[in-house]
Amino acid sequence: MNGATANGSSHANGLANGHANGHANGYANGHTNGHANGLANGASDSDDELPAFDATEHPHRRYNPLTRSWVLCSPHRTKRPWQGQEEKPQGTSLPAYDEKCYLCPGNKRATGATNDDYTSTFFFENDYAALMPQAVAEEKNQHPLLQSQPARGRCYVICFNPQHNLTLAQLSTAPFSPDEHIVPIIQSWQKIYKQIPAENPFVKYIQIFENKGSAMGCSNPHPHGQVWSLDYIPEEPSKELASLRAWSQDPANQDPKVNLGACDDHGKPSMLLTLAKLELTTPGQPRVIMANDHFVAIVPYWAVWPFEVLVVPAQRQIRNVLQMTEMEVVSLARIIAQVTCKLDNVFKCSFPYSMGVHQQPTQLATSEDDEFAQFHIHFYPPLLRSASVRKFLVGFEMMAEPQRDLTAEQAAKRIRDCDDVHYLATLEQS
Ligand SMILES: [Zn+2]
Ligand SMILES: [Zn+2]
Repeated sequence: MNGATANGSSHANGLANGHANGHANGYANGHTNGHANGLANGASDSDDELPAFDATEHPHRRYNPLTRSWVLCSPHRTKRPWQGQEEKPQGTSLPAYDEKCYLCPGNKRATGATNDDYTSTFFFENDYAALMPQAVAEEKNQHPLLQSQPARGRCYVICFNPQHNLTLAQLSTAPFSPDEHIVPIIQSWQKIYKQIPAENPFVKYIQIFENKGSAMGCSNPHPHGQVWSLDYIPEEPSKELASLRAWSQDPANQDPKVNLGACDDHGKPSMLLTLAKLELTTPGQPRVIMANDHFVAIVPYWAVWPFEVLVVPAQRQIRNVLQMTEMEVVSLARIIAQVTCKLDNVFKCSFPYSMGVHQQPTQLATSEDDEFAQFHIHFYPPLLRSASVRKFLVGFEMMAEPQRDLTAEQAAKRIRDCDDVHYLATLEQS
């Protein structure tokens, strides 16, 4: 029977059988079929004669339960061992202060506003915001094929540090420290999460993100992030919130063998707490980059980007950044510092990425999905084999589905094995 074969196969890649069953039973029919077809195709009657499935050898698809989508993995293409080519470390020639930078302290921006002479973090409304706060009427009598809805919001910029030539990664290493230099960034996320909806009662979702490096379209090297507040929940978090809710309510996931006893504060199964526990209890922790008292950083099993990283709470449900204790804020700052430092050390360059926080919508968005929200951070870095070779989602990936060669386990090992000291600090010493 195909179903049994499918489960047996997925067991071979090291995941608990119960997990695979959970998927097969729990998800929408389309996915169940996808799963069964994906793993069992061609392995019908005579699979005893077929070679056993090996996730480091055989092309296979991996399922992303957050977005309920698939990624094709082609590990046989990375059979050759990691070349370990020595990258020439890329130094930085940027000044600590740039009089032309619109983010440096005390500088005048194009709109005429002047930045504070800030010494820690600095937060201001984006002069070129993608959204506007005023309400407009919805267009009437729309054809179902040509639909629109008004979008309201405000956009802000957070300068992470007054120094023009520093990145989050560099703030991990002496003379800087995450406790002193990254904690204030998380505290500003907390302030924003509280303040924006209070001042703008229409705001339902707050998207915090950072675009780092020109490869990700970031035009200014000054360390900064962005905050877009919106009167709706955008596609990605909305999809994920629905998945978290569906996972929690799925009867198949009530089984402690599936949820591993990792439940939210209502005692309901929590997908991301279960994932944290699963990753931390898997022998050898093949996808774990690091863990501390409150958070774990992994290369997710279903990663699309070569060195994609997911940071999730490991102990309890934290719906939003405001629910964090002071100790949790410190732990988060430390793990962000270590992740970004190690990413830079992979190719000894300032590793470009898009980083984003997903969390509970604001209290105004009173959807039941809220209850199942779990704060987490995604890092999507595009580099592939070196500082100059990046991955593009083109061809098959644009037309069919994402694909990767390097497995999540190989990527996790590469990142994990990197030094905790930022390469630039080592360069300066030598
Ligand atoms: Zn600057
Ligand atoms: Zn997410």
